[in-house]
Amino acid sequence: MDCCRRVNPFRACSPLRGLGYLMLAFVAAIVAVSYYAVVVYTWGPLLLGGGGAAAGAAAVLVAFHLLLAMIIWCYLMVVFTDPGAVPENWRHASEEDGIGVNSRTISYNWDATYPNPEGQSAQKYCSRCQNGKPPRCHHCSVCNRCVLKMDHHCVWVVNCVGARNYKYFLLFLVYTFVETVLDTLVLLPYFIEFFRDESRRSSSPGDIAILFITFVLNLAFALSLLCFIGMHASLVTSNTTSIEVHERRNSVSWKYDLGWRKNLEQVFGTKKLLWFLPLYSAEDLHNIGALHGLEFPTRSDAVA
Ligand SMILES: [Zn+2]
Ligand SMILES: [Zn+2]
Repeated sequence: MDCCRRVNPFRACSPLRGLGYLMLAFVAAIVAVSYYAVVVYTWGPLLLGGGGAAAGAAAVLVAFHLLLAMIIWCYLMVVFTDPGAVPENWRHASEEDGIGVNSRTISYNWDATYPNPEGQSAQKYCSRCQNGKPPRCHHCSVCNRCVLKMDHHCVWVVNCVGARNYKYFLLFLVYTFVETVLDTLVLLPYFIEFFRDESRRSSSPGDIAILFITFVLNLAFALSLLCFIGMHASLVTSNTTSIEVHERRNSVSWKYDLGWRKNLEQVFGTKKLLWFLPLYSAEDLHNIGALHGLEFPTRSDAVA
């Protein structure tokens, strides 16, 4: 059993690092065709006509550009924010397992674990990083390092999602979902018209292909994102990472679950106005230990 625990499923995924850059190009291509289909080909020209159609088009175009700006902002924040690295020579505050704190040439107990009520355990030391492993930290073989409160390695953002960029990742999902729903809805009349009206088919085959591809891609993304957002909503409100799902399934009461409100605050911060922006207040950054990824309050702390 012990050997099974040491098998890292991400080891087989090292080539994903290369794939990530392909995904970046794919994301850029989707944004480009959506921009062309919605702004240049369909709704932009309506602005010139004036009247009610122009007002409607202006509303669509403002919403489209606002969402696009939010998506790009959140995306850059996920990509360029370090999800959290373990400080060098990091030690556990309570060294009950015999790990010394005063010497740099410590003989670590490599099998030291975090006990929990379910009888399962997580290792306290990473043999690959040769460093201590804080609670909820996992080694990512794609990034080749330990990541604090690791959720998963995301090929779409060429980065790990962890303690310090999980909020940005969630906002990126939500804004992308809203944008893909908007694109699908505003392209729907043109899509239907294409099948109904023969004359439309005389427009440039390139334009028709872009309209068709954009509609289908946006619809597919909207549906997939809806499932993904539903899954993460359940994770964030129960204070569980994607990696911890299995561990939580076997537990009667999840030790990090402090109630949905406090769980949300650990990811989004306490300032509700900032919940929708990829930012934290200085106060939250100072007060919320979970955002630093080294220590996490548990249910027993709340009771004590
Ligand atoms: Zn590691
Ligand atoms: Zn990673």
